[in-house]
Amino acid sequence: MKKVLILTTALLFGAVLFLGTTVTQVQAKTTFVTIGTGGITGVYYPTGGAIAKIVNQKRKEYGIRCTVESTGGSVFNINAILAGDLDFGVAQSDRQYQAVKGVADWADKGPQKDLRAVFSIHAETVDLIAAVDANINSLADLKGKRVNIGNLGSGYRQNAIDALAANGINWETDFHAESLKAAEAPGLIQDSRIDAAFYTVGHPSGYYKEATSGTRKVKFVPILNIESLLEKYPYYAKAATLMKNYPGAANTEAAVPTFGVKATFVTSANVPDDVVYAITKEVFENFEQFTKLHPAYAGLTKEDMLTGLSAPIHSGAMKYYKEAGLK
Ligand code: GLU
Repeated sequence: MKKVLILTTALLFGAVLFLGTTVTQVQAKTTFVTIGTGGITGVYYPTGGAIAKIVNQKRKEYGIRCTVESTGGSVFNINAILAGDLDFGVAQSDRQYQAVKGVADWADKGPQKDLRAVFSIHAETVDLIAAVDANINSLADLKGKRVNIGNLGSGYRQNAIDALAANGINWETDFHAESLKAAEAPGLIQDSRIDAAFYTVGHPSGYYKEATSGTRKVKFVPILNIESLLEKYPYYAKAATLMKNYPGAANTEAAVPTFGVKATFVTSANVPDDVVYAITKEVFENFEQFTKLHPAYAGLTKEDMLTGLSAPIHSGAMKYYKEAGLK
């Protein structure tokens, strides 16, 4: 018995030693990088995938292996990056601005000094969809309805609250607000569990394709009276959502007016320069390939990717922009 035990222990010890060596060797060669995105029917998730695909093509050269995580959205991503739980993330330009200034979701924590911008990507619009049978034609018609304004980690929740406030609606008292993740909302509209939902996303998105292709007819509701928002907040711009992307929507007009922001790629000052440099360089040097990976990037230029950034540009990204003559 004793002999057997000793033998087993020796074998186990040998295995641990062997494994230990293997793990160390792998770590010495590969830097694992995680990108936080959003719900899988949004555009952040495929955007993380597009960046990872481009960077992983050069795995042998850089020793970087990018993986993508589906998350609750912009606010979650920024906080997880600052906590060191994610290396990179996609975040709305308005959320980047607020974190840097220490306002909105960061009012208690103060300015987030370690947040760094890498580049910006596609445009996003703030939209409200509603079931046609709920008779919602403006934000004022939301009174008494069941409406998704978004989960706490999302970027779009504050956009919904701002749009409502600009239209004199108090989300806490005027209707029944749900705090659901975006991916859940289209199914709940189809099941008649909610009447309407806000979301801020690039187009086309799986979210709206799903929401507008069920048996319960769904339409985009114009978001008007936004002048006060445009005046007060530097990060909001007038925008329109094109209906050609969603032939199943009940709208007959070509475009629905609203406001919008930009999707941006962010990281922390604590992420090493060589990693940020490699990712920036690969996306910019493979720009044609990158922009073909999602229709939301149609018309995007390299110059566009350096606008809408409020956090300081990460020094690794800046090194590339200087070399490429972009800064
Ligand atoms: N803008 C959304 C948010 O931060 C996510 C959109 C997406 O996943 O494409 O909440």
